[in-house]
Amino acid sequence: MDSTLEDDNICAICHDNIEKKSFANKCLHEFCFECLLKWSKVQAKCPMCNGPFTAIIHNVISDQGYEEHIIETTSRLNFTMLAMWRMDSCYR
Ligand SMILES: [Zn+2]
Ligand SMILES: [Zn+2]
Repeated sequence: MDSTLEDDNICAICHDNIEKKSFANKCLHEFCFECLLKWSKVQAKCPMCNGPFTAIIHNVISDQGYEEHIIETTSRLNFTMLAMWRMDSCYR
């Protein structure tokens, strides 16, 4: 009857049914675990709302029973690259 319920189970990354449901820890949007993991390696921003997140919540059994996969952000790397770029432009 309510087809919107089904849409909720579609992953915005692979556009297929969500497998191993997992959530971005900040905005709690749902994705497949594999998809979100791959995505987070490219950018730690939610593909749906563009909100940054720091961990993937998965294996959710209850409110307290879940696993958190902390993602290694590339922000440190980006910051270093930015700092290097700034240094570089100073020498000009
Ligand atoms: Zn997916
Ligand atoms: Zn989101």
